[in-house]
Amino acid sequence: MAKKHFNTQCVHEGQLEDTQYESGVSPLYMATNYAFEGVEKKRYPRYFNTPNLEAVAQKVAALELAESGLVFSSGMAAISTALMSFLSQGDHVVLQNDLYGGTRNFVKTEFPKYGIAFTFTEGLSMGDFEKAIQPNTKGIYIETPSNPLLKLVDLKAIASLAQANGLWTMIDNTFASPVNQNPTAFGIDIVLHSATKYLGGHSDISGGIVVSSKANIERVFDSAKNLGGNMSEFAAWMLERSIKTLALRVTAQNANAQQIAQWLEAHQDIDAVYYPGLKNHPDHHLATQQMKGFGGMLSFTLKKEKSVECFLENLQLIKPVMSLAGVESTALSPRLTSHALLTEEERLSQGISPQLIRFSTGIEAVSDLISDLEHAIYTAS
Ligand SMILES: *Cc1c(COP(=O)(O)O)cnc(C)c1O
Repeated sequence: MAKKHFNTQCVHEGQLEDTQYESGVSPLYMATNYAFEGVEKKRYPRYFNTPNLEAVAQKVAALELAESGLVFSSGMAAISTALMSFLSQGDHVVLQNDLYGGTRNFVKTEFPKYGIAFTFTEGLSMGDFEKAIQPNTKGIYIETPSNPLLKLVDLKAIASLAQANGLWTMIDNTFASPVNQNPTAFGIDIVLHSATKYLGGHSDISGGIVVSSKANIERVFDSAKNLGGNMSEFAAWMLERSIKTLALRVTAQNANAQQIAQWLEAHQDIDAVYYPGLKNHPDHHLATQQMKGFGGMLSFTLKKEKSVECFLENLQLIKPVMSLAGVESTALSPRLTSHALLTEEERLSQGISPQLIRFSTGIEAVSDLISDLEHAIYTAS
């Protein structure tokens, strides 16, 4: 049969068959005990090979144009396991400078204990990555679009820089989701997701995914079975159901985000808007080349006469909560939440102004979102 369209794969790929009752959705297997089929084949949750874990792994691998995958209990379980499986004592890894805070913290606190060296790049240009490579460098780790300023890294250029130096590449593709970006199509080796975000999409599942070639996934599995970060069966069953609507949700979020970004750009009380879909975004051209859609995440700065705290308090529909990528719109101040542990100087060096708001666009009617933003901006003082 011909390869199915992405939206069709979201619905059908990986689905389990109910041979006993012939129902139309995947049965949920909570079992931790399966018949022994030999040392290589035994099924067990921590071997990541129970039916519901395999179903989701197969679905996301298909959506990411990858051969195989593993499903973890959180994004950080997937990220930490993937990094630990590809690095040993004495190795060095190059990482993009503005990474998700949890990843940055993991690298800074855990790697020194195991004798793994690392360099965070100064900027995001190829020169910045190239000059960070050392004789013992094994790989390059990136995250694009980045949080919270939606900066882009050139996927094709990173893949060829890595190939020229015999390095592997890993990407955290959480912000884009497979709907908007397939890094393997540009030669990136290993793709990671926090499934807690767009893949889950309803702010009620914690999960993580690693997808790659069969050989790379076997290598990740060798560490994963020791570290034990498998997802629960129920969460996997929920996640499979959630991904059925992934394309619909993210397409709606893309459209809403584009309209909101354009509306904010024209607003007199807004200083700057960061969204890859805007023509004046510094990476807009690159975004059109490597992204299929511009995503649901954006950020903006309020003019200094408008208090960030007051703006957030005045929102009525949009929730000022920490997480992102759900069907409901949310907003936060990086200074007060996600980046609160950095010093003001560190934040400014990353371009994070005290007036910055990060916005995660939901699937509500865009007219209601714009009214809520308008009211909160107008009444903020
Ligand atoms: C949330 C997030 C993570 C971590 O995922 P958890 O499920 O919270 O462990 C990693 N990367 C990015 C970009 C995220 O937004």
